[in-house]
Amino acid sequence: MKVVVLVGGVGGARFLLGVKAALGLPPVGEPEQPSEHEITAVVNVGDDAWMHGLRICPDLDTCMYTLGDGIDSAKGWGRLDETWSVKDELAAYGAEPSWFGLGDRDIATHLVRTRMLRAGYSLSAVTEALCDRWRPGAALLPVTDDRVETHVAIEDPASGEPRAVHFQEWWVRYRAEPEAGAIVPVGADEAAPSPAVLAALAEADVVLVAPSNPVVSIGTLLAVPGFREALRSGPAPVVGLSPIVGGRPLRGMADACLRAIGVDSTAEAVAAHYGARSADGILDGWLVHTGDTAEVPGVAVRAVPLLMSDVDATAEMARAAFELAGLPGGDR
Ligand code: GDP
Ligand code: CA
Repeated sequence: MKVVVLVGGVGGARFLLGVKAALGLPPVGEPEQPSEHEITAVVNVGDDAWMHGLRICPDLDTCMYTLGDGIDSAKGWGRLDETWSVKDELAAYGAEPSWFGLGDRDIATHLVRTRMLRAGYSLSAVTEALCDRWRPGAALLPVTDDRVETHVAIEDPASGEPRAVHFQEWWVRYRAEPEAGAIVPVGADEAAPSPAVLAALAEADVVLVAPSNPVVSIGTLLAVPGFREALRSGPAPVVGLSPIVGGRPLRGMADACLRAIGVDSTAEAVAAHYGARSADGILDGWLVHTGDTAEVPGVAVRAVPLLMSDVDATAEMARAAFELAGLPGGDR
């Protein structure tokens, strides 16, 4: 079975662990094994940024470290057993940005990436090279090799002046507290999905939309011209999982993003925002958490537990998604 999963960072990466388990692939830390199943993750790049001369790709790295057994799983991002000497030294120079957590081990990844990008390799090729080390057991594909960076229109907390800041500054520095007037994937207009992404969508048996941030993770994928169309016209059923449980996002501040685009923080409103494939949207099926409801014409909805508390629970979510898509439920 060929499974394509649309993902952002932490939520997407955790979900991918469940998809692997549902398909009987070896757990994190165990060697890869030949399998009849193939997982391709299409990963958001809108969080990517240049900092201190380094190209940072937070969502790609979160997926890579999570699946490759290098993640700090307590934090959900960054490297296990990280140290922060470089960050401290940069701060001693007063070098900005000082609010972004760049760990020493993590910096090695960014150095390799930056050097390869400067040598002319595409982000897809760089990611593949990095994954040679991490062996995530899934193909991690940046949605595009073009530069797309999400910016947020806010009132500057210090000056009160209107300002557009990089998504990272809004999210990490300001904890998404200043109200977002607009959230814009800058560069998306001129971007194109990578050929590998289009091929994966064309060959998929099922496409899962991870319970990732609907605006700045999944929304950025959909903003790349041609991606949405390829998803809509592909052969595979598309099933999404709600990141909103009981009227609020489970971790993080996705409600601040949804507010900016005028969508309520409910499982139903997010499904309606994605829309039914039969009506210009992307979804054939939608999983909501037990007790939540959603009614969107053209979308098959089922309620199951959607808490990714451990890999087994997450694998059950993936199996429920396969079943809703009309496929056998993995290795149940
Ligand atoms: P980010 O890029 O690190 O912000 O991660 P993603 O965009 O991939 O995922 C963030 C989203 O995951 C948040 O909006 C959360 O609501 C959602 N999320 C986190 N944990 C869970 C969980 O256990 N269950 C569900 N259904 N959603 C979750
Ligand atoms: Ca992210």
